[in-house]
This record gives sequence, C-alpha cells and structure tokens, in this order.
Amino acid sequence: MTDQGHPFGSDHPIGVAVLGMGNVGTEVVRIIQEQSQDLRQRVGAPLVLRGVAVRRLDVDRGIDPELLTTDARALVNREDVDLVVEVMGGIDPARELIGTALTAGKSVVTANKALLADYTGELAAAAEHSRADLYFEAAVAGAIPVVRPLIQSLSGDRVNRVVGIVNGTTNFILSAMDETGADYSATLAEATRLGYAEADPTADVEGFDAAAKAAILASLAFHTRVTAADVYREGISRITSEDLETAAAVGCTVKLLAICERVPASPGEPGSAQGGKDRISVRVYPALIPRKHPLSSVSGAFNAVVVEAENAGRLMFYGQGAGGAPTASAVMGDLVMAARNKFFGGRAPGESVYAELPIAPIGDTPTRYHVNLKVADRTGVLQAVAGEFAQHGVSISTVRQEGQDEGARLVVVTHHATESALADTVAALAELESVTSVTSVVRLEGTEE
Ligand code: NAP
Repeated sequence: MTDQGHPFGSDHPIGVAVLGMGNVGTEVVRIIQEQSQDLRQRVGAPLVLRGVAVRRLDVDRGIDPELLTTDARALVNREDVDLVVEVMGGIDPARELIGTALTAGKSVVTANKALLADYTGELAAAAEHSRADLYFEAAVAGAIPVVRPLIQSLSGDRVNRVVGIVNGTTNFILSAMDETGADYSATLAEATRLGYAEADPTADVEGFDAAAKAAILASLAFHTRVTAADVYREGISRITSEDLETAAAVGCTVKLLAICERVPASPGEPGSAQGGKDRISVRVYPALIPRKHPLSSVSGAFNAVVVEAENAGRLMFYGQGAGGAPTASAVMGDLVMAARNKFFGGRAPGESVYAELPIAPIGDTPTRYHVNLKVADRTGVLQAVAGEFAQHGVSISTVRQEGQDEGARLVVVTHHATESALADTVAALAELESVTSVTSVVRLEGTEE
C-alpha cells in the first residue's frame, strides 16, 4: 500500500521468494527478472525477487549468487518476503514451508500436484485462517488454464464431467506406439533418451501423476474434497503393441485418461444408502477412444482437458502440459493475481468442498471394454465365449475373429458393464478350455452409448 492507502502506482516493492530453481523455477526467476517493467504495470507495484532456495549452491545458475540460499525456511520467514512461489516439488519440506508462509499471511503459488492431491485441505485451512491466497494453476496441465476456469468461470454452472490427457510422458509413449508400432519398452527407452521420461518413470507410467491431477480436478469440479487415494488408478505399462494394433482395427487409439464424472443418484433413491446424493467417479486408466474423439488427436507430450457442464456444454482446453517455460507461464499468472490481491485487499476464492459427494467405487462404475483373447481355432469357441459374457450379464457389442498360427484371436467389444461384472467374466473366460489366454482387457471410452 502507498502511504495514502491507495494501491495504484506504488513504488513499495512486493517481495517474492522462489523455492526451487529447477526446470520451472529457472523460468520463473527469468521472467520475474526479464519482464519486471511489464509485471510492475500489471501488478501496480514492483515485484522484487528476495531470494531463491536451492539444494546446491555450487551450480552456476546465471543469477546473482547473493540471491541463492539453501535455507528455505529462513527465506520464507524474511520480513521483506510477501509472496512465496513453491517450485521445489515433493511433500517435505514443501508442505511445511507452504504452511509456514500461509500461516504468516504470505500468499503462496505452487505447482506441486503431489502435495495438493493429499494436503489441499490443510493448506487451504491455513490460507483461510490468515486471509492469504493459495494459487495452483500450474499443478494441472502446465500452461493450460484449467484450474481457474473450473474455480471461477464455471462457478455458476454445474460440471458433470472432466476428461483429460494430463500426463505428457504417457501421451508421448502411447502416441509413438500408435505411430510406429513399436512395443512399450522400446518406446519408453526412446522417451527417456529424448528427455520425455524421467530416469525413474514410475510416477508417470503407472498413473500416479495423472491421479494427483485427477484428484485436484475432481475436487474443483464437484466441490468435494478428493485425494489421490480416492482415485482408481492404472498405468500404461501393460499396454502392448498388439493393443494399439487391435484398437486401430476398430478405428480407435489408446490414451491414458483422467476421468472425473458425476454419477447421478437414481430416481427414487432418496431412501438409499447414499441418501439420494449424486456420487463421483474419479479414475485414471488407459482406454481406447475413437479416432474421431477430440482427445484422440492430442499427440506427443501435449495435454488436453474436456469439461462438460450443464449450461456451458462441452469446453476443451489444449496446450503444453509441462516444461519449464509453459509451466512458469501458469505460475506467473498466479503470482500476478496474488500480488494484485495484496494491494487491492482482494482474495482468491478459497477451497469449496460444501457438496461432499461420496466417491463411487470402481466396481460400480460402468464402462465399455475391449477384450482380446487367444482361443483354439475350432468350431464352438465363439459360442462358449459369448456364453460366459451372457452368463455374467455383460452384453457384447461386436466380436472380431482373426486366424493365427497357433490358434485364433478374438476381439470382443462390450456394451457398458460394471468393473465387477467384467472381472467375473474374465475370470470365467480364463477357465474355459478353448481359451488359451485373455491377452488384454482395455476400457473403451468416448463412444456415444
Ligand atoms: P526440478 O527440476 O527437480 O527442480 C527442483 C528444484 O528445487 C531444484 O532447484 C532443487 O535444488 C530445489 N530443491 C529441491 N528440494 C529442495 C530443498 N529441500 N531445499 C531447497 N531447494 C530444494 O523440479 P521441476 O521440474 O522444476 O518441478 C518443480 C515443481 O513443479 C514440482 O512440484 C513439479 O511437480 C511441478 N511441475 C513441474 C512441471 C515440469 O514440466 N517440470 C510441470 C508442472 C508442474 P537443486 O537445483 O539444488 O537440486
């Protein structure tokens, strides 16, 4: 504030601490320094970098070494620090540092989805208590504005579904497998060589990263606290070149999807166990989607999120979901908002979890399935296989049979069935004498029925 208490045109600096100077932090620091004049105009006061916390001081980072410190806690606690940007990642010490900043009334901008997926409640409460802001646009889908549209633009609408490709590494791998026909291991090795996959790719390929983002998206979309543990998760490491090949044969490709869905209460359900409330289903898994689906053309390391709202209809957000500069763009947008709020006395919307919708178990969630079987090449097999599907109440949409050297391949596409009905069917199929193996079961999403 100026001495007159008027926010505009102040020379009084807003002190910023940046925690972490890796891929994202480096770009955040660069933008703060290179675009200081524009930022000053947009905020109404100069943003001044007070310090940058890192682990190692013996690395040349191209900035004044005086700005660097390994004591992140002391940096956060400095009196001339008003805003904290957390881009160090991980749970500890990020959780404590963000908590400390918020408790002291210092607004925080973070890109840390892993932390938010489990601790948003705790951090939002600290922010609420001290009237500080907690911003996290960069935590989901990098540069793509999707958090703010869900929190603000759609706050007067009713969101029914959010479906996204929110992990660039897995999308790069699946796109490459689709294009080249190469198998999973070779494609992962290539992704690692090109820098699209980390040395330990588990968080990406097993769907943990996407599940954290799904938890954040579902919380925002359905005004309900959803944590990573509420998200059903499967990764892509079991997807084979054969899955891509059979998907292509039915006009589909395979994508790792994060799906957040409102499951409406059945009519006449008020007396039911759920008390007539809608439920929500939040899940991450690889799925076939038709090539004409808007998410099918999202290739390489790009991300996209489709939001379906009652009045807005279908909205699609597309762009770079990761990378230093794109992610820093989202961080900077939040930083400008937090800085403006400091001056104007406004606040970011706090956590909204009033709806408290129950989570629907995956076993109750109906989807379509694409089941790939190796079977004996003789008469009666089709009938036996179809019989097991019927026996378990799983209705078949199409069956395709291809002869092979050591038998035949059957590809069965089902209508909607629950996970539990399908699991029972698969177990029964595996027992059939005429079925050599159930090679794969992949869900089918994005079809009309
Ligand atoms: P990164 O390259 O690994 O950088 C982490 C930085 O934090 C490094 O500078 C490291 O210091 C510093 N650091 C780590 N622990 C520290 C500690 N205890 N004390 C002080 N400094 C510490 O990570 P990143 O890729 O920039 O990602 C940062 C955050 O952004 C993560 O939460 C990530 O999930 C999120 N994010 C990243 C992307 C992306 O494309 N990279 C996209 C969206 C969101 P040293 O340099 O000394 O090792």
